[in-house]
Order: sequence, then structure tokens, then C-alpha cells
Amino acid sequence: MKALIPALLLTFISITAVLAKGGPPINELCPVDGKAGRVIYRVFSEKGTIIFCCATCLDTYQKSPASYPVAPKAEK
Ligand SMILES: [Zn+2]
Repeated sequence: MKALIPALLLTFISITAVLAKGGPPINELCPVDGKAGRVIYRVFSEKGTIIFCCATCLDTYQKSPASYPVAPKAEK
């Protein structure tokens, strides 16, 4: 059990490092089609990091960002 803790900590640190660039995403759902967003498909805007469900939606958004208002994550 004790050996698990450093491993979990390392995992947490690497996730944090990935998210640190541009900050955590401001949304949870893809602004284009409303599916669950994935952190690997993201853009950095002045509002913060916006995530998408797939590369196609990311492209669609970047062609016309004003057409897809981003719904911010609900506060927990
Ligand atoms: Zn999408």
C-alpha cells in the first residue's frame, strides 16, 4: 500500500504538468456538438483553454470561433 502512494503522486504531477500549459480547460463539453471534451484536443484562447471531443470539432471551431459559444464548466 505504501508503495502505491509515490506512484499516484507521480501520476498526479505529470497530469498537472500537462494541464499547466494554458491552464485547465474552462469547459467540459465540446462547444461544437456537445459531446464530452478531451484534453488532447484543445485550443488556447483569451478566455482560457477550450477542449473539444475530436480534431474535426477543433478545426470547425477555429474556422469560426464566434459561432460556437463555450459553456463554462459548472462550479463544483
Ligand atoms: Zn465535438
